[in-house]
Amino acid sequence: MINLYGLDRGALEALFVEQGQQAFRGRQLMKWVYHQGRTDFAAMTDLSLPMRQWLAENTCFELPRVESFRVSKDGTCKWLLDVGSGNLVETVLIPEKNRNTLCVSSQVGCMLDCSFCSTGKQGFSGNLPAAFVVGQMVLANNMLAEKNQRVSNIVMMGMGEPLLNFDAAVSATNIFMDDLAFGLSKRRVTLSTAGVVPAIYELAKVSDVALAVSLHAPTDDLRDQLVPINRKYPIKELLDACRHYVDQLGEKRMLVIEYTLMRGVNDQHEHAVALAELLKDVRCKINLIPFNPFPASGYQKPYRRDIYNFQTYLMKQGYATMLRTTRGDDIEAACGQLVGQVKDRTKRQSRYLARVKADGNNFVAQIT
Ligand code: SAH
Repeated sequence: MINLYGLDRGALEALFVEQGQQAFRGRQLMKWVYHQGRTDFAAMTDLSLPMRQWLAENTCFELPRVESFRVSKDGTCKWLLDVGSGNLVETVLIPEKNRNTLCVSSQVGCMLDCSFCSTGKQGFSGNLPAAFVVGQMVLANNMLAEKNQRVSNIVMMGMGEPLLNFDAAVSATNIFMDDLAFGLSKRRVTLSTAGVVPAIYELAKVSDVALAVSLHAPTDDLRDQLVPINRKYPIKELLDACRHYVDQLGEKRMLVIEYTLMRGVNDQHEHAVALAELLKDVRCKINLIPFNPFPASGYQKPYRRDIYNFQTYLMKQGYATMLRTTRGDDIEAACGQLVGQVKDRTKRQSRYLARVKADGNNFVAQIT
């Protein structure tokens, strides 16, 4: 069965052509699904009867099963979704005054094992199909529809590394941005990467989605420890790829640099100075994220004073610098706290759990 939620406009047109139909029939189907909210083929009366029958026999619209749904005291919502084979992923909706931002997962677990991210500690099971990336959006919109609202911004900042699930990430972002589907502007769909350099060049060829890069350190020595993929693609190569990417987007658009602040690790004045110097010829804005703790992470939240000084310095150097407020941490929905349930194929999860146990599991959130 082909799950049609995973097919973008090009793929749907190709499917119809394969069946001896004209390409525009694929676009008609998209309108039924995303504009009319209909997924029953019988209702799609402008498609031929044999085609509707073929669709009913060979395709489906399957959504991940909702295992649980929680709402934080600040209104942040978190879905735990069953994506098959005993794997669960998380999706987070962050409602704000003028927007509803959805943070979607792209993989079950993550291969990259950044030292300060709890998703990496769960190990890795596999890629999510595009249909289940889009499915996260469908579920969130169905919920918001009850309040006459919809998702206005998408960030691929949930579990996983989207550029290591390249085809699915591209299909899903195409569907988010397509007028025949969700129709979000390309400025409101952001793909976040830890720095898979060759894939950034590939992405530049096929997409104009907004790009965020998880930098977290101004030097290779430090970044090697925090973001291990840096050992393969060091900062200079990464920033070359980033410049290439934003150049093709056009002058008005910017890269987003994500920088998670960890107390005493990368949040000192010297780091801010080095960061400002490093980024001086990159068209970017900077998003600072205070570290969100999780058991046995080995890191602490930054002091407020250090956050303030770091941000103030960057702003004085002329960088648009935003502080991402922590949302949903009471339901473990904040950045770096998404874990789901990963049928781990690496040894990482069991090593991590042993470390939590050795800590006596006496995890206390650091209060600053
Ligand atoms: N793999 C992609 C997508 C995940 S995005 C990427 O690395 O960009 C998740 C964002 O949250 C990243 O910027 C990540 O570095 C940040 N993050 C991870 N763990 C965190 C934590 N414990 N506290 C705060 N931010 C964290």
